[in-house]
Amino acid sequence: MNAAKRREIFRRLRELNPEPRTELEYDTPFELLIAVVLSAQATDVGVNKATRLLYPIANTPAAILALGEEGLSEYIKTIGLYRTKAKNVIAACRLLLEKHGGEVPQTREELEALPGVGRKTANVVLNTAFGHATMAVDTHIFRVANRTRLAPGKDVREVEDKLMKVVPAEYLVDAHHWLILHGRYICKARRPECERCPIVDLCEYPAKTV
Ligand code: SF4
Repeated sequence: MNAAKRREIFRRLRELNPEPRTELEYDTPFELLIAVVLSAQATDVGVNKATRLLYPIANTPAAILALGEEGLSEYIKTIGLYRTKAKNVIAACRLLLEKHGGEVPQTREELEALPGVGRKTANVVLNTAFGHATMAVDTHIFRVANRTRLAPGKDVREVEDKLMKVVPAEYLVDAHHWLILHGRYICKARRPECERCPIVDLCEYPAKTV
């Protein structure tokens, strides 16, 4: 795909949604961090349901530590893999208090050193809480980048690296939100809704549904 097409894709996505947001609900970097950790292999809707009850009670590392693993599990037990996630969140809260004064760090290395935080989670936090230009490639972005030929790659890391290279600078900070939403609601996994796709004339997917 050539640079003019890529630029036009993002121009249209921005026109349709000038200020894209994550669908996870949060007020602070810490709330976002925990929501993203909980969201692995779970839906944003399911995580929001849990955090709406949890955060009014505990939304700091100290408060969640005080709940303990069992107490935290009560709030998140509707979310997949909740036992592992509860363990990780408690361990991460302990580390945040010990090493970072209870604040969420702003570097990839420090974020990835937290239990339960991998590269994608770090990318989301750096981007969404702190405004860094990072590309958190999830299953939706991976699919959209490959289908459209915007940034084809055989694994999420290759797609991430390509997107970082080819997305025009002015769109870099918000690009991952636009691509996730596009994949979630239009370029769906089972059957892409090409008939209502705003970039159908730019997309290079050979099996479009129109
Ligand atoms: S045209 Fe179809 S395959 Fe291409 S981006 Fe749009 S929905 Fe996805």
